[in-house]
Amino acid sequence: MEYKLTIVQNAIDSLNESLSKFEQGQNGDIKAHKFAILHMAHFVELTLKYSVQKYTPHLVYSDVYRNLNKSKFKTEHGIDNLNIVEAYEKLASNGYEFNKLLKNSRPHTITVSDAVEINKCHKCTKTGVLFLDSELEDCIDSIKDLRNDIEHFDFSFNPKEVRLKLGYLIREITPFIDCMDLYDMDLALNEDRQEVFETLSDEYEQNLKEAQILLKGKIDKHSELCRGVSPKDRMIDSHLYEFTSYDCPECNQKGMLVQDDESDSGFRCVFCENEDSLEIEYKCDRCESWTPQFFLSTVGEMTVCENCHPENWMGD
Ligand SMILES: [Zn+2]
Ligand SMILES: [Zn+2]
Repeated sequence: MEYKLTIVQNAIDSLNESLSKFEQGQNGDIKAHKFAILHMAHFVELTLKYSVQKYTPHLVYSDVYRNLNKSKFKTEHGIDNLNIVEAYEKLASNGYEFNKLLKNSRPHTITVSDAVEINKCHKCTKTGVLFLDSELEDCIDSIKDLRNDIEHFDFSFNPKEVRLKLGYLIREITPFIDCMDLYDMDLALNEDRQEVFETLSDEYEQNLKEAQILLKGKIDKHSELCRGVSPKDRMIDSHLYEFTSYDCPECNQKGMLVQDDESDSGFRCVFCENEDSLEIEYKCDRCESWTPQFFLSTVGEMTVCENCHPENWMGD
């Protein structure tokens, strides 16, 4: 018998599969986490494409998508100032034959990034809020990168990291699925998967709350320490007396990568414990200006900023 799945069944199947692999991973089979991520990334991809297919059916094909983005095509059809969804709707209401843009009988479908761009055009008619907002977009990028790493590069993770990533994604994509009226998650999930699904999103919430408390504690402690410092002393090196925080590139939490004495980098994310970011500023050993790590390089024993790099000042 032939095994055939619609895009919706296929998406739901991948979600259930991901949760099942995740459970296996949590029960000790660490390798299963890899498949939990791959299946989840597949679920996200199909969900985004299904949303496109549901509201703007022909846009799911890259031939159509590409044409509607070409300025010549746009001008010819009077859709210059419209976003891609508005343009599609205008053409559709004029009876435009999208099929004639398809080059072959098995047309390619759009990429995940294309599907993101299309879905970003939908917003709530009442509140004007985007259904696919920047948080969800970050989340999609992060699972996409992770899938890419698994498929093509070295890949390392710890179970907590996987839990947080999947939990974050579930938390962000569920409202999107609801608002776009794609599928009923309660019905979609196998009964025994329901619990895992809820645990993941609840645990994420719980962790986030704990991280916020930890962060507040750190901010309070810092202002306590700075209380006795005179304004004059603060002027000497204001950087030392400011509470410094960065967005965490690992878990995407805003402002959660903060000073931590036990970390090698001097910083640690209160949410996911990541210690690195190219945005962390250190003092240049030569001019002593605070510079993001991204712009620092090591020359002999010294760590220097771009201005102080020998290549840039030896000719002075
Ligand atoms: Zn983090
Ligand atoms: Zn310098």
